Amino acid sequence: MHCSHCGLCCIKTEMLLSETDIEKLEKTGNRSKHFMRLDGQGYVKLRNRLGHCVFYDLKLKRCRVYSFRPLGCQVYPVIYSVEDGVIIDGLCPMSNSVSGKEFQRKGKTVVKLLETIDGEAAKRRQAAKRSAFVLHEDCNHS
Ligand code: SF4
Repeated sequence: MHCSHCGLCCIKTEMLLSETDIEKLEKTGNRSKHFMRLDGQGYVKLRNRLGHCVFYDLKLKRCRVYSFRPLGCQVYPVIYSVEDGVIIDGLCPMSNSVSGKEFQRKGKTVVKLLETIDGEAAKRRQAAKRSAFVLHEDCNHS
């Protein structure tokens, strides 16, 4: 498919980030606290500013980190829906240009990426539980 750079997928983004995405974005000189937010379940998402992803340039209507954008942005409009599994997001005006082969390839990437992200979120939850336990222990002994 050919991205028209309409920016629709960059409005109020909920894009999940893997550790690899975060490292790659940090290499562009951006600090993680500038572009990531952590939800209560240990998942890391792109941060929004003025209703768009922090990396979306409103004037130029372009992603400022296009070559380094997260894997989830690269495979878009192929996404994972909890109800329907791997689908093509109809919000994308170019969604009709995704070939069957591309859908298969990107679909596999989406599933693998989500497994990685789920694993990383589980580790963060465990780490948070451990530090809460240590804090609790410290309080009990003071
Ligand atoms: S990283 Fe780029 S492509 Fe991905 S949501 Fe942000 S502005 Fe859009």
